[in-house]
Amino acid sequence: MFEKILIANRGEIALRILRCCRELGIQTVAVYSTADRDLKHVRLADEAVCIGPPAATSSYLNMAAIISAAEITQADAIHPGYGFLSENADFAESVERSGFVFIGPRSETIRLMGGKTTAKAEMISAGVPCVPGSDGVLPDDEVACKEIAAKVGYPVLIKAAAGGGGRGMYVVRKEEDLIQSIGMARNEAAQAFKDGSVFLEKYLEVPRHIEIQVLADEHGNAIYLGERDCSMQRRNQKVLEEALAPGITAAQREEIGKLCTDACKRIGYRGAGTMEFLYDHGRFYFIEMNTRIQVEHPVTERVTGLDLIREQIMVAAGKPLQIRQEQVELRGHAIECRINAEDPFTFIPSPGLVTGYHTPGGPGIRVDSHLYAGYRVPSNYDSMIAKLIAYGPTRESAIARMRTALAEMIVEGIKTNIPLQRRILEDEVFCAGEHHIHYLGERLEQWTAQR
Ligand code: ADP
Repeated sequence: MFEKILIANRGEIALRILRCCRELGIQTVAVYSTADRDLKHVRLADEAVCIGPPAATSSYLNMAAIISAAEITQADAIHPGYGFLSENADFAESVERSGFVFIGPRSETIRLMGGKTTAKAEMISAGVPCVPGSDGVLPDDEVACKEIAAKVGYPVLIKAAAGGGGRGMYVVRKEEDLIQSIGMARNEAAQAFKDGSVFLEKYLEVPRHIEIQVLADEHGNAIYLGERDCSMQRRNQKVLEEALAPGITAAQREEIGKLCTDACKRIGYRGAGTMEFLYDHGRFYFIEMNTRIQVEHPVTERVTGLDLIREQIMVAAGKPLQIRQEQVELRGHAIECRINAEDPFTFIPSPGLVTGYHTPGGPGIRVDSHLYAGYRVPSNYDSMIAKLIAYGPTRESAIARMRTALAEMIVEGIKTNIPLQRRILEDEVFCAGEHHIHYLGERLEQWTAQR
């Protein structure tokens, strides 16, 4: 087992990883930017190394600085968390080359699944259903693009092959707009991802976002841990997630789960991963794979009783999975609300000093957060400050507990989206489990108009 793990991240996930290491008796190294000296996990870690100025490009994305920190502190392994360098194949490769263990899949796997078109091609070969679309990236030839779009059928969605974070996507409803949208998507992709290649797929009007959590070891074992519904989104960003997904039957779960684990075995997947699907008219369509731990992993932990960070560490240390598919028991229902430092209706970020902080509690409540009273939320990073997770034996009970928890939670000094989450938890369509990925966007227009 590892003796020392360097945590190449910040905020709640860094703290989550630190706690897990402590439980396992593993020493921790925190790395932080000059804006993050006061982060909770930096204070709790066995060692802490400053890796640069506030801008993420100079600190949390600075591969050389992170690897040097691992060398200086003689860490054995690096946990990348989510975001930042977690899905950067070059980083994983540098970590491996420098003699450390990257807690995640092999760099080749990250490269393969990181490209949306290469991932899709791989999934098609594995027999996993995908959203109908172009065969790989779009050619430069305009006539050929028009033919592809016509064959797929309008509306279509232009997506960046190297995309992420919901950026660089354009919906095209008629042929006249196709070429211009491809141009815009190419420009945005080139700017954001340094790769202007785009592809196209059928735009699904009212799908749900359902994803399958997988876990695989390097001994050829792979299991699935049920699904999560992440359809409550704003601008393609998840706001609330739950496990399991309302209305998915055991037979559907088993069928899609088996396809996912077969695909994992095929590509030699290692570690925790998520296969994301759009679910439309009773069918699953693969959109992408995330080769890392996800923000919403706690809901799966609640319904399975597993610790996914622990599993990641065990697998990275070369241990075989201790649990077989038949032993995975899915019980109850869990919901996660992402709490962001932002205005609940304009979404303008609200960094600053947290003057008061009170977390909810009681049966089935879990709070993953690095906040404390007196902490100053910096303006340099993502606005998520906490994850509130409610578990209950049924979806109704989880909703009831989440309402109580949201009402109890107090964050003073900055604005948060707690009022928005409370509205969602009261929303009839959400409570009936009938929302889809565009639902919140539509609903927000009404809520804003009512104010
Ligand atoms: P990213 O990596 O940027 O997050 P994804 O491919 O995961 O991109 O898509 C993000 C979100 O965009 C999805 O959760 C879904 O809401 C929406 N989306 C993606 N593909 C489609 C599609 N073909 N039709 C409709 N919506 C889509």
